[in-house]
Amino acid sequence: MQQKRVAVAGAGLAGLSCALALEAGGISPVVFERKPHAGQRFAHISTVPLFAYHERDFSFGHLEKNYGIRVNPTAQFNKLILKGVKNNAEIKGELGYLVTVGQSDDCLEMQLFKQLRTPVQFEKQVDPVTLTNEYDYVVVATGAEEYANPALRLGLWHDLIRAWIKVCTVLGNFEPGTLTIWRNRSYCRDGFAYLAPFNGRRATLGLNVTGISQKELSAYWQAFIRSERLDYDIIDIMERDHVAGRLSRHQAGNLLFTGDAGGFKEPLLGMGTMAAIASGVLAARAIINGSDYEELVKPLLDWREKFIRLRRLLDHLDDAAYDRWLAVEGLWPVRKLMFESGLPWMDLAGMLSVPLDWLRGGTDCITNDS
Ligand SMILES: Cc1cc2nc3c(=O)[nH]c(=O)nc-3n(C[C@H](O)[C@H](O)[C@H](O)COP(=O)(O)OP(=O)(O)OC[C@H]3O[C@@H](n4cnc5c(N)ncnc54)[C@H](O)[C@@H]3O)c2cc1C
Repeated sequence: MQQKRVAVAGAGLAGLSCALALEAGGISPVVFERKPHAGQRFAHISTVPLFAYHERDFSFGHLEKNYGIRVNPTAQFNKLILKGVKNNAEIKGELGYLVTVGQSDDCLEMQLFKQLRTPVQFEKQVDPVTLTNEYDYVVVATGAEEYANPALRLGLWHDLIRAWIKVCTVLGNFEPGTLTIWRNRSYCRDGFAYLAPFNGRRATLGLNVTGISQKELSAYWQAFIRSERLDYDIIDIMERDHVAGRLSRHQAGNLLFTGDAGGFKEPLLGMGTMAAIASGVLAARAIINGSDYEELVKPLLDWREKFIRLRRLLDHLDDAAYDRWLAVEGLWPVRKLMFESGLPWMDLAGMLSVPLDWLRGGTDCITNDS
């Protein structure tokens, strides 16, 4: 039987995972990457919190079992500090993992790339739609940057959130395994700021501001640094748009959309690492077995919907209400309930957003045009 001809556009997490799963299924894909190397341009620390993956069927520890993908985290994530305007809360425990993304030799993308037998065609920017004439299947794994995503051009994409982010690599003294998240509407609107260490000396410091233009970002950054009195040495800086959306379909003819390009990133904290890997593998399985890709990705979409509801709930909280929530959240029984009980608290919290939406006439920063 003739082998299926498959092209994968993009060698990020989704594209590389898809290519690995295709290889495992006996298909040698052609992988195109616009840049001269695999993975993101800017090295940073990403968080994979296990409490965000209640079903745990696509959490880090289950990637190998359920998806056949073997990668290692950079560090355990064992402390979360949440900072409001007045109150803080601290949660300790086995909260998940911190992973390096982009550039370094042990980053997630390099871990995947080193396992791949298929050579990647670097410095090849391709148009996935045009490739559909040449290949039996084309996997779109081009990320969510506006110019890169054909789902926009095909009218399949609906915005959930638009923000600008500034991410810096900073030097200082840090507590490894600790993620700090700030929320203060004066400098991040409906977004957030975070600090995630690579190790005791180097960390990623990021600010995510919703609904602004790039020109406005630097004023928000200055306000953040001033307000939190941060004076780290900055050694690297990146600014980019941050978009999350949903697609009306994830397969259009022989085009299959994966990762950020497929709208699999959640719109609250912008977590998309696990869903990018999982959707890449599921696209490969759909191609290998001729199965229905829309059916396969349903659990990923259900997971994302929870974050949409949670985002709606948080958008209802002004700074004072968030401070009150932090005061309660810092209490031992509440921490136990949320992070150790295994209760589906994300579902329960999300359900609260429905009456609140109704009371407020449906105003929040998530767009409703799906
Ligand atoms: C600053 C930052 C912080 C983040 N923090 C977290 C976090 O804490 N937790 C978490 O879970 N997620 C986080 N994420 C999100 C996560 O990194 C992404 O969801 C994930 O990397 C998406 O993978 P992807 O393969 O879909 O896209 P990408 O990683 O964007 O890869 C797309 C690839 O396609 C290539 N490409 C684009 N267009 C073309 C073309 N036309 N032809 C060929 N190649 C092309 C690009 O060069 C790139 O290599 C963060 C993202 C950023 C930017």
